[in-house]
Amino acid sequence: MNDIVKPLTSDGMCGWDEHQQLWLWELEEGGGKVGRIIGDPRGQTCRMCRQGWILTCESLKDQRYDQDNREWWHYSCYVRYIATKDRDLFDSALIGAHIRFSGWKEIPSQYWRRDPVWSKRSWYVAEANDQPIKITIGSRKRVYNIEFEPTPGTGELLFWQEAGKEFASEKVTKEFIPTRVMLHAWGGDQLKDYMKRLSKAFSLDEWAKLPKAEKVVS
Ligand SMILES: [Zn+2]
Repeated sequence: MNDIVKPLTSDGMCGWDEHQQLWLWELEEGGGKVGRIIGDPRGQTCRMCRQGWILTCESLKDQRYDQDNREWWHYSCYVRYIATKDRDLFDSALIGAHIRFSGWKEIPSQYWRRDPVWSKRSWYVAEANDQPIKITIGSRKRVYNIEFEPTPGTGELLFWQEAGKEFASEKVTKEFIPTRVMLHAWGGDQLKDYMKRLSKAFSLDEWAKLPKAEKVVS
């Protein structure tokens, strides 16, 4: 069953079976092998990098077909695209919360540490300009992991208790200790909302402290 009768790659691990289905087989650590049916990306161009595929299992398995838009992607390009979208979201979450910060530093995913593809969905770290706080945000599958930590050598977070009070009734994975405030946000909108509330609790919103302008009388 599922025997390749017409190989596509020189190692014979990818090819067509007697029903014209394209199979890709991979060796498992224990010695067995596992196979699946894949699409045929020959002659196609990746939506993201505009490159094609070559006839190796390594290249052929790096594929994603977007049914809705009938577009081919390298799976690795798709993950990089998602990571870029993440960073845009984190940007707007901090800006929307009036947190002044210095540019993002990209770090490997702290959730998919070992997955060769999803580990490229990077996490991002920024530093608040108005307090010694290191802000880390990254995806953990369906939630975004938010962390506020003191920048190295600055001791404890000034407002960790205020943050704890702000989120006391929130039923999500969370931690509030002097050296770490951590929260899981379900989706982008909640991330933006949490960031506004963290900004308030940590007294990071400098705009909110501006004196209210008196009415100008003409
Ligand atoms: Zn690509």
